[in-house]
Amino acid sequence: MSKSASICLGQKPLVVVLSAAAGVTNLLIEISTKAIDSHRSLISDLVAQIKSKHDPIIRNLTLGQSDEALLESLYRDLEEKLMLINSEKILSQESLDYVLSFGEKISSILFCVLLKQLRIDKKIQLLSSEEIIKTDSNFGAATPNTEDIKRIANELIHYDEKTLYVMQGFIGSDHLMRTTTLGRGGSDFTAALMAEALNASILEIWTDVPGVFTSDPNKDACAQKLPLLSYSQAIKMAKNGAKVLHPETMTPALRLSIPIYVGSTFQPEVLGTWIRN
Ligand code: ASP
Ligand code: MG
Repeated sequence: MSKSASICLGQKPLVVVLSAAAGVTNLLIEISTKAIDSHRSLISDLVAQIKSKHDPIIRNLTLGQSDEALLESLYRDLEEKLMLINSEKILSQESLDYVLSFGEKISSILFCVLLKQLRIDKKIQLLSSEEIIKTDSNFGAATPNTEDIKRIANELIHYDEKTLYVMQGFIGSDHLMRTTTLGRGGSDFTAALMAEALNASILEIWTDVPGVFTSDPNKDACAQKLPLLSYSQAIKMAKNGAKVLHPETMTPALRLSIPIYVGSTFQPEVLGTWIRN
């Protein structure tokens, strides 16, 4: 997370969209399944697993009282939801989306604390993606309503150069304010939707590999980096299983010809991939 923060200081974005911390979404899926038939007294242990997953990040942060209170209330809400799953003995996709939203809710709060600690010369404003990213009610793979998103984003975000906005990737809400998700890896898609809503000049995606490769560079030593792709090439690659980008990411960017840059958080100096016309 500190690497992402230093990229943020260098790139000076208007809006930063956060994914959950590594492994957290998978762990949330695991604990929501366990909650169905765990003994009630063990539900708090499931929440503790999520807390400890964030310990390495929190160790480097000084949390204020209000940050602590915010996190505690999130953990209470998570526990309450797991208790409910436990009493109903069923995990609906709607409940799962709500549980998964905690990954991004927690990471975005911690990222704000980190940015404030770095004394960045901007006001840090945390936004709620449940308020901005309006979707249909197709839980697990919701379709965003780009008109609503554009309207709300422009109401809440001001281009004053003095404010840095932080929000959660992957999550949104339907017309009843029920939490939805955009599908696994959906944070890229959120960022693209925001880039379109705000008519951004660039969409940057900072991930764990330095760009788009012919195959997964973490698994295949022969994988070749592709320095430049057209939108249609990138869409084809994402659909064919190149995990680096959510397949829907290119669509909003393509509509306004917003260039996309994909770079590595771990090696930001290594040239990544450009996706543009
Ligand atoms: N946290 C979500 C996932 O793991 C979304 C994302 O990382 O883009 O799928
Ligand atoms: Mg991702």
